[in-house]
Amino acid sequence: MSSQNVSEKPTGPLDVGRIREDFPILGRRVYGKPLVYLDNAATSQKPRQVIEALVRYYEQHNANIHRAIHCLGEEATAAYEEARAKVARFINAPSPECIVFTRNTTEAINLVAHTWGRANVGPQADILLTQMEHHSNLIPWQRLAAEKGASLRYIGLTNEQTLELDGLDELMHDRTRILAVTHASNAVGTINPIGRLVKEAHRNGTTVLVDGAQSAPHMPVDVQAMDCDFFAFSAHKMLGPTGVGVLYARRELLDEMEPFLAGGEMIKRVTLEGATWNDVPWKFEAGTPNIADVIAFGVAIDYLTGLGMENVRAHEMEITDYAMRRLRQMEEVFIYGPPDVADRGGVVSFNYPDLHPHDIGTILDREGVAIRAGHHCTQPLMRILGVSGTARASFYVYNTLEEVDVLVEALGKARAFFSNDTP
Ligand code: PMP
Repeated sequence: MSSQNVSEKPTGPLDVGRIREDFPILGRRVYGKPLVYLDNAATSQKPRQVIEALVRYYEQHNANIHRAIHCLGEEATAAYEEARAKVARFINAPSPECIVFTRNTTEAINLVAHTWGRANVGPQADILLTQMEHHSNLIPWQRLAAEKGASLRYIGLTNEQTLELDGLDELMHDRTRILAVTHASNAVGTINPIGRLVKEAHRNGTTVLVDGAQSAPHMPVDVQAMDCDFFAFSAHKMLGPTGVGVLYARRELLDEMEPFLAGGEMIKRVTLEGATWNDVPWKFEAGTPNIADVIAFGVAIDYLTGLGMENVRAHEMEITDYAMRRLRQMEEVFIYGPPDVADRGGVVSFNYPDLHPHDIGTILDREGVAIRAGHHCTQPLMRILGVSGTARASFYVYNTLEEVDVLVEALGKARAFFSNDTP
């Protein structure tokens, strides 16, 4: 169950040429053109180390975990729990018991809303969100508010789609039970000042959930330094398989929370009358978990750790900066989000005044360039921006400046096609 680090160099720029060799899919052609994959905010591609870990698990170790008294069961259990420890180290959680495996970020947030939320949010309570939240960090709270008769409040946005924090004092008061906020926006790229938000929330006695779906894959994350209460993210956006998410929570919160789903694995003792719950974190992992994918996720974390998350961030800033400079040179392109790359992740969301983002996406696809076009699961944000959607290019460790050139060239073709400039 060993994994392989891709880089002997713990620091320094990423060796993108070498990284690309680890990703079989990057050798694909799409409509006869080399694939340029710029939809990483939706999901990332997987290195062969992760793919091989899945095959190795099923070929060599497959068994159910925690209960088996045989060699395979013990190997599978050890590998599964080792992956939990890797996740804990990756985000600097104080212990592996603070890590709960879920299916994805969405399930992790639902877990908190259903368990902590039901116990702690009453009719007089406020739930504080922001106007840039992904539907996954919006709908669970809307449902909880409707169920409990609680109120939803929103931190608004500036013209550059950063959080408008001037009126925060008025929004956050003694009835504000939770602040649920994204660390980095999947739709416009903004990185939010989580440290400041957590400080102000805690001063107010407000619990904080951070949606880390777009930060954990792309930058160093330290949940203890951040001091957040909950932090949620997905394996599939960070080189890992689909079907695995993570909920980090402060240990004392997990101890006091009721289970989310009930059944096997999450119990200690069962009688015909009732049951007692397993210890944290297994109390929250009912039924047979996604063993193979969790183990392969551990290998994805090894891969990213081998690259160094500071280097990942530096690489993405370089590509984002280049992409923004190239796009700004194109007439009429409008780029959303903060102008400074230091304030944004590797997401560039843009529009042409009279081109539908879907049309842009379709033409780009024919050139082999995969971007995302639409509302990015942030419909309220799109409404505030006054658009039905945007075109979004999002970058990761294997993207190159040359791929940005291909994107820009393909955009030029889309522009020419729709303005009938072509002969
Ligand atoms: N939050 C943010 C900011 C996201 O970008 C995403 C995925 N687009 C999610 C939540 C939901 O992630 P998942 O679909 O893996 O549950």
